[in-house]
Amino acid sequence: MRHSDGLSRGEGYEIDHSAFSDEDLRDVSSLSFGEARPAKPFGRGTRVRYIYTMQTDHLIIGQGICGTFLSYYLQKAGMKVMVIDEQQPFSASKAASGIINPVTGRRIVRTWMIEEIMPFAVDAYTQVGSELGETLISQCNVIDFHPTPQMKISFEKRLNEETFYLKKPAEQDQWTEFFNYDFGAGEIDPCWLVELHPFLNGWRKKLKELDELVEEKFDFSTLDVSQTGSITYKNITAKNIIFCEGVSGFTNPYFELLPYTKMKGEALIAEIPGLPRTNIFKQGISIVPWQDGLFWIGSSYEWDFTDPGPTAIFRERTEAQLNHWLKIPYKIVDHIASERPANIERRPFVGMHPSIPTVGLLNGMGAKGCSLAPYFAHQFVEHLTHNTPINPLADVQRFSRILSAKI
Ligand SMILES: Cc1cc2nc3c(=O)[nH]c(=O)nc-3n(C[C@H](O)[C@H](O)[C@H](O)COP(=O)(O)OP(=O)(O)OC[C@H]3O[C@@H](n4cnc5c(N)ncnc54)[C@H](O)[C@@H]3O)c2cc1C
Repeated sequence: MRHSDGLSRGEGYEIDHSAFSDEDLRDVSSLSFGEARPAKPFGRGTRVRYIYTMQTDHLIIGQGICGTFLSYYLQKAGMKVMVIDEQQPFSASKAASGIINPVTGRRIVRTWMIEEIMPFAVDAYTQVGSELGETLISQCNVIDFHPTPQMKISFEKRLNEETFYLKKPAEQDQWTEFFNYDFGAGEIDPCWLVELHPFLNGWRKKLKELDELVEEKFDFSTLDVSQTGSITYKNITAKNIIFCEGVSGFTNPYFELLPYTKMKGEALIAEIPGLPRTNIFKQGISIVPWQDGLFWIGSSYEWDFTDPGPTAIFRERTEAQLNHWLKIPYKIVDHIASERPANIERRPFVGMHPSIPTVGLLNGMGAKGCSLAPYFAHQFVEHLTHNTPINPLADVQRFSRILSAKI
């Protein structure tokens, strides 16, 4: 028989075991969240303290962009959720600038499935925002200042091929008050900017109000997974558990064999009085409007690193670039670093474990969590509720041989 060791909030019973037989305890331990006290009175002097025994449909680990959208869409589908998240100050979702950019890389090519994923993401953040009473997404085009004459030529060549997302701003001189740029600028249109902190904080608040959040570090040693029926974690019983832990998931015993790779990124947070907040400005690094009237400046993409924190070398290099590029004064107020949950295939990991149907995963969003997470969280929920297929390029079933080998 299993007794809960209790969560810090709520109502239920925990009993001094020495005072009761197993038969008596069975009555009490089967109480679920919100049920009344058992009819059988406790004996005089018995120590009783209140705890929860919770039953839910889906237990979600992690409340970054993935866990947020997954819990959101599960709730929309009428499911009960419980989310466990420890507050990590700079998880990937909290360190990200929030850009959704339809064309990326040196060759300025369209990102995977962007025609479907970008409009979906815009609707998703708009919808969550309207429920939270916040504007969570706005159009914010990238102004791409050409760093060299060769880059200008490359952009103009791509402009003839990519007529939908690329354009040349008519007024080439309109930013000369703020920036040094000798080779002109191109524009990526439309780009979108997500307000990640209000999004994550707003949803967290909502989960708390609904009593659907446990703020603690998830501990695998306390998880009980049944192959067919349900899972139990401390005093929570759920039909299944879905991991949305970002890079912490790289050591998840159920999914650690997936081809993950960490990609570190650093950014400086700065005050830049007078700089317009209408665009994202890019010249190698990007300057992005961020929370509290500040700007996010970055980022690096490092696969090979020993120090996961902010480094002096990034700060020096970025400040040198800024001093050359920016004409107006700025003040650095913070320096952040995090790790993107990337993978060598550059495709997300979505779905239930091939051999353990009660354990699932939404992870591997790499550098594009803002756009990929809403789309694939929704697809995953459709799969769970209507058994519709997950895109085979994202479905974790594509690793069934590797994942099943460990069981
Ligand atoms: C510097 C930087 C800039 C970026 N910029 C962009 C951008 O502009 N656009 C874009 O689309 N993407 C960007 N990304 C990538 C994006 O941030 C990620 O793809 C996305 O945030 C991943 O979200 P996630 O929910 O999978 O993981 P995370 O954000 O890491 O969330 C995981 C959550 O799980 C919790 N957790 C983990 N383990 C446990 C545990 N054991 N117990 C309890 N809780 C746990 C953590 O506290 C965290 O809240 C950027 C990333 C970085 C680092």
